[in-house]
Amino acid sequence: MDLNYTPEQEAFRKEARAWLEANVPKEKLPSFDTKEGFEAHREWEKKLHAGGFAMVPWPVEYGGRGANLLEWLIFEEEYYRAGAPGRVNQNGIFLLGPTIMEVGTPEQKARFLPKMASSEEVWAQGWSEPNAGSDMAAIQATAVRDGDHYICNGQKTWASRGSYADWLFGMFRTDPESERHRGLTFILVPLDAKGVTVRPIDQLDGEAGFAEVFLDDVRVPVENQLGETNKGWSVAMATAGFERGLMLRSPARFQETARRLIALYRENQQGADPALRDVVVRCWADAEAYALETYRTVSRLLGGAKIGPEASLNKIFWSELDLRMHETALQILEERAELLPEAPAARGVGSWLDGYLFALSGPIYAGTNEIQRNIIAERILGLPRA
Ligand SMILES: Cc1cc2nc3c(=O)[nH]c(=O)nc-3n(C[C@H](O)[C@H](O)[C@H](O)COP(=O)(O)OP(=O)(O)OC[C@H]3O[C@@H](n4cnc5c(N)ncnc54)[C@H](O)[C@@H]3O)c2cc1C
Repeated sequence: MDLNYTPEQEAFRKEARAWLEANVPKEKLPSFDTKEGFEAHREWEKKLHAGGFAMVPWPVEYGGRGANLLEWLIFEEEYYRAGAPGRVNQNGIFLLGPTIMEVGTPEQKARFLPKMASSEEVWAQGWSEPNAGSDMAAIQATAVRDGDHYICNGQKTWASRGSYADWLFGMFRTDPESERHRGLTFILVPLDAKGVTVRPIDQLDGEAGFAEVFLDDVRVPVENQLGETNKGWSVAMATAGFERGLMLRSPARFQETARRLIALYRENQQGADPALRDVVVRCWADAEAYALETYRTVSRLLGGAKIGPEASLNKIFWSELDLRMHETALQILEERAELLPEAPAARGVGSWLDGYLFALSGPIYAGTNEIQRNIIAERILGLPRA
């Protein structure tokens, strides 16, 4: 295996680095879980798009630059190195976009991908319901065919950035006689349609980063169905594969956190327990291991493979690593860890506390880690169903 980059990849890295250095906002944008921050992030995404860096592996006609997934990994490394803003349209570009690329019709690709790449349309994921979280096959929202429309009813919840997003992708029961995984269809719903009510939910930090979405007789054109009728589960599993196995959390994110953790340890080692050093080194090694494993996944995908149940191993690994890194940072900071960055005694605590609170949700979102362990037991190890 040759782990060196080609001259073309090196040139691409240089170009991306120069562009990011010239364009990344100097001031941190307000949180994308607020209306103001959401729109500021959308503007940033538009700039990225104009620069040709919105989604580098997508074909040019859909708003990408026709590069491959290795270049995407390189771009992600440069993106985190530059401290660029979080991607407000991550549900679109990293989850739904690749799914449309895989199962969408040519018309759907032309209709949805370019506006997704430019973030003119920002997407929310509408899978969870009050009685269908881990047990997603218990979905109760319905879509009933009426001529060339579906009439959608039901309630979705925990839609990240759903308070401000333009569109929602969700699963709906289209066969009333069906049970569990069968009889669900994957449908794309405009959030400004008549009959949609979006109710923001405040998160731990007081920002309305979640929404519950109520659908009352919402008419959605049949052409917004992605994949086959009643076969939405397999479409959703492809989406979950991209989410857990590759795109939602690229290794660069954790490599950057590991670098910041090492810097924090060095700055504070006077007061810090020396035993923490081993933990810090282990975090760094794990972030590097995750990067190598991702390069392996991407090489397999470029060779024609598809993401399978091993995505669950991946998801457990990155979410637990992220939490461990943030817990370690709080230990290094000792009592200062609880201070807000602007507190007089904070002395450079940075955003570790904020990051820790978000890291706590890593083992929950994208399917809880308990559920991922069930998948590994059944689908990788071949153990009997629980
Ligand atoms: C930050 C964040 C962002 C999110 N964003 C979105 C979003 O954009 N769109 C969306 O649709 N959803 C989103 N979610 C919701 C998320 O997908 C659900 O919270 C998750 O799937 C768990 O569902 P639940 O909350 O209903 O918990 P439950 O399913 O009620 O689970 C409760 C506990 O029981 C455990 N458990 C349940 N069943 C089993 C089992 N069979 N075996 C072992 N343990 C089990 C779970 O692991 C968990 O610990 C988000 C969640 C978070 C935290």
